[in-house]
Amino acid sequence: MNDLAPRRRKAPRIVDERSHQVALRIRRARLSRGWTVDRLRREMELIGYPIAHSTIYRREISGASRMTLGALFAFAEVLKVPVMRLLVGPVCQVCDDNPPPGFICTSCHVRPEQNAA
Ligand SMILES: [Zn+2]
Repeated sequence: MNDLAPRRRKAPRIVDERSHQVALRIRRARLSRGWTVDRLRREMELIGYPIAHSTIYRREISGASRMTLGALFAFAEVLKVPVMRLLVGPVCQVCDDNPPPGFICTSCHVRPEQNAA
């Protein structure tokens, strides 16, 4: 009705490379457990940390992320990974998140090209 009324603005999406790396470590930890994004979402919900499927997906793919410390600890808890390993990796202790070219890690299922991102 009133165009001059202040609008609630959405905070800009921040694509921050360090945050994206954390999201990718969560992804690797998820893949190493053989979990889908939906399974991770359900596990988060079970410990009282509901998170939208699209939020997980968006973080992993685009790096758009505003993760709280609470969320970070919740991810670490459900994925059974020390929280420090989500912060400073590598997540996979078999391949150090870096399988040789042409190979897929049998533990975390990461392909070399997924590391390039
Ligand atoms: Zn691995």
